[in-house]
Amino acid sequence: MRTRGLLAVLLILATLTGCAQSVDPIERLGKKAAERVRPHGPDAGPPHRRWGLTAPLAPAPTRPSRPSGPLSGSPGGTALPPVVDHVPTRDRVVFLTYDDGAERDPRFVDMVRDLRLPVTMFLTDSVVGPGYGHFARLRAVGAGLQNHTLDHAALRGLPYTGQRAEICGQQEKLHARFGVRPRLFRPPYGTYDTTTLRAAADCGITAVVLWRAAMGPADLTYTRGTHRLRPGDIIAVDPDESLGPTLRERTTRLLRRIQEQGLTVARLEDYG
Ligand SMILES: [Zn+2]
Repeated sequence: MRTRGLLAVLLILATLTGCAQSVDPIERLGKKAAERVRPHGPDAGPPHRRWGLTAPLAPAPTRPSRPSGPLSGSPGGTALPPVVDHVPTRDRVVFLTYDDGAERDPRFVDMVRDLRLPVTMFLTDSVVGPGYGHFARLRAVGAGLQNHTLDHAALRGLPYTGQRAEICGQQEKLHARFGVRPRLFRPPYGTYDTTTLRAAADCGITAVVLWRAAMGPADLTYTRGTHRLRPGDIIAVDPDESLGPTLRERTTRLLRRIQEQGLTVARLEDYG
């Protein structure tokens, strides 16, 4: 009798515990998804798994195939720099670019290092502010640092002297901070005119870089052409974390899209 009573109590307890564990499977799935993109978690395994990818990123070709690259203008020459949102290449690669320099998550540096992710950062001095140390760390793990003006002004329509000050001024800042002389320039908001191209050339810029695809809070959007990634596409990752996923999560999603389409990531500067 006593044993049977005890068994009954145990059975009830087991049922209750079982219920508690099976509550809200969606929530548990959500937690699992969150764990997948969390680095250095309990299941920290190979780098690609730590950052939410099911397979490692394929290495970019060691010898880029770049037919007379549109990124290779003539610095100081009379020709205006080309404006590019796509690099013609037969390599199955795309290029990752990040703007402004507002987001300074130290774990993004870990991500770039762990995945050996070749990224290009277009920096604006007034946005980076006191955060140049973060970009020095990114540079140390392989990120390219390029020019996105001093103050993020919309350049189109501004007089030559103003445009030149915005571009050359940031060339000087980046040189003073990192010893680099950027060759690539992205105009804020993607807006420019021929004065911009002239000023950029006079500041040592060899290509003005826009983007054909943008990774927003939800998914990829395209500025023109086919609505899927193509080899040579330049992708801008929206840096605004105020709405939706963090820069790291956005990057993981984007890398999954890139892998789904049989592509990998290459360094933009290697194709210029
Ligand atoms: Zn910007």
